[in-house]
Amino acid sequence: MRAAVLEEPGRLVVRDLPRPSGSVLVHVDQAGVCGTDRKVVDGTTPVSLPRVIGHELVGRVLEAGDAAGAEAGSGQLRSGARVLVDPSVSCGRCATCRRGQEHLCPNGGLMGREVDGGMAELIAVPADRLHVVPDDVDVDDAALLQVLGTCVHAQWQVHVLPVDHAVVVGLGVAGLLHVQLLRARGAASVLGVGRSASTRELAASLGATATCTPEEAPAAVAELTGGAGAQVVIEAAGTGPTVDLAVDLAGLGATVVVFGTIVGGRHALGFYELYRKELRLLNPRAARGRDYDDAVALVASGQVSGRSLVSERLPLSKAPEVLAGWHGGSGRLKVVFEP
Ligand SMILES: [Zn+2]
Ligand SMILES: [Zn+2]
Repeated sequence: MRAAVLEEPGRLVVRDLPRPSGSVLVHVDQAGVCGTDRKVVDGTTPVSLPRVIGHELVGRVLEAGDAAGAEAGSGQLRSGARVLVDPSVSCGRCATCRRGQEHLCPNGGLMGREVDGGMAELIAVPADRLHVVPDDVDVDDAALLQVLGTCVHAQWQVHVLPVDHAVVVGLGVAGLLHVQLLRARGAASVLGVGRSASTRELAASLGATATCTPEEAPAAVAELTGGAGAQVVIEAAGTGPTVDLAVDLAGLGATVVVFGTIVGGRHALGFYELYRKELRLLNPRAARGRDYDDAVALVASGQVSGRSLVSERLPLSKAPEVLAGWHGGSGRLKVVFEP
């Protein structure tokens, strides 16, 4: 079977690997690319080599094996079932796993990074990592389910009341999903903050009540909230200055979710501001199984959609070219490979 294998930093190849065995065998229909894959491929995130990349996976069960008929998240596992793969790997035995925080297991990790991933024709996955996706869910909605699961997890501990004004800083794929999720959860308003005019337009079409640039954001929030500041701010850009902006836009007693990942270095936060406003700062990572079930339910009911977020669908053979030639500001949203 064909797979996208990182042989050394910067050298991704598509080549044949032995057919995987064990667990439930899944044919991968689509594998989304995200920043994590790019950092693994260019060596910013070191991994042991060779490594099959990819963790945003949706496919169909080829052989359910011993797991046939088992209760997978949101449905029954059987041959032919369409499934979303929960890409986190955990040991199930350590103190963190036993506390119910398998997604943080220190002995585990992420498929495509700590263990082989699924940018490949076939993948073997334990049954408890599969979530059944109804056949009538649109193919692009399905493609965004793994990212949506992490967004659901990020908002899990955030209270949203119908009087709350929310802000999303950063309008990439995750930011655009957060905008939709906040609207679905009933926020009074959602301001989308981003640099690109085209993604601001997209945010508005997906439910943002207003949009603006980062420079315009303080005045826009002050106007929306009568000077009080936002009750919920989600930072989805992953830079020091955008975290500062998120803290700045938050009102008294607000919640700031640092969703964007900042790798390496140290950034001094305005600690006095955190104290003065008594802010709740959340740092969600990955997702739990139930977050993926919620993600499936959100797209199945039409409350969140990935349809305008998939910018390209390409054959797996294009993976080396696309990942090597990727640079920031390409205007791409989600790129999906179809193995
Ligand atoms: Zn990802
Ligand atoms: Zn563990």
